[in-house]
Amino acid sequence: MIKKIILIFLLVILLVFLYFFLNSNENLNAYINKYSNSATVFFSTVISTEDLLKKYTSSVEQEKVVKILIVPGHEPDLGGAIYKGLKERDLNLLLSEKVRKILGKNIKFEIIVSRDTNGWNPTLENYVNTNNAEILSWVNDKKKVMNELVETGKISVVKSEMGHMRAPLNSAIFLYGINKWAGENKIDIVMHLHFNDNLKYKGKPTYAGFSIYVPEKQYSNSTSSKDFANFIVPELLKIQKVSTMPEESNGVNEDQELISMGRYNTSNTLSVLIEYAYIYEGFMQKTKTRNAFIDKAAASTARAINNFFESKDQQLLVTTSKQKTEKN
Ligand SMILES: [Zn+2]
Repeated sequence: MIKKIILIFLLVILLVFLYFFLNSNENLNAYINKYSNSATVFFSTVISTEDLLKKYTSSVEQEKVVKILIVPGHEPDLGGAIYKGLKERDLNLLLSEKVRKILGKNIKFEIIVSRDTNGWNPTLENYVNTNNAEILSWVNDKKKVMNELVETGKISVVKSEMGHMRAPLNSAIFLYGINKWAGENKIDIVMHLHFNDNLKYKGKPTYAGFSIYVPEKQYSNSTSSKDFANFIVPELLKIQKVSTMPEESNGVNEDQELISMGRYNTSNTLSVLIEYAYIYEGFMQKTKTRNAFIDKAAASTARAINNFFESKDQQLLVTTSKQKTEKN
């Protein structure tokens, strides 16, 4: 009899133990899922190279399926490098106009510029001016999410090695506004065009060459941006060397801090920022050689974009992009 009681007692203990074990496991799984989803919702790939290429190839003729926003760096009358009277913002604009003209020949592209010789694109300017408060609170929300993910160790902070100039508040709001607008208006590619500058040692220029910036790999728009940048590099190498600044020697540099690359994960759009040359480089000082370079730079940029969409290696590109996403 005693044996029977002991056996029943043990059985009950076993059942109770099993019940708690299974239950806690379930809770644990739910917890893990919830925890990892919080990161993936905000920091997963939102635009894949594959989808973008499919969109382009599957389109019927005469259909403008790919929307490209060209952003000549800085503002109509503000910002950017100035060297011996030469204003970077004017060069960016000149280059942008040329890129727009060449790309406009591709019937599948809809080209939008953030500003032209008349000033800001009125649609964009109006959007930013009327949504100032919304843009700011949207950025704050994104920043909060990112900070929480950093605190829980899901996202790591990556400082820019080369250190960027801080954009003044209004310029910053405009850049965030471009990110928000591009997402809402289903822009496929945003290209920021710049000429570089850096502090000169004893008044003398130090670095030369081009560099391309892409979103840091934890950001949602990173993978396709990097794929795209890898098409720009070989084209630019035909006309210019890679930046001699050690921090830019990779040619393609990931960046977590540049607003234009989607700081705080504020961009869902494939984005690149190209610095074509340092503004003080020798060939930039004479009108003739400078204009010749800008012509070549525009042609190279447009060719890179066409190559990206028309490439016979598309399958390869998609595969690499997929592998990269899986690794990340
Ligand atoms: Zn610039």
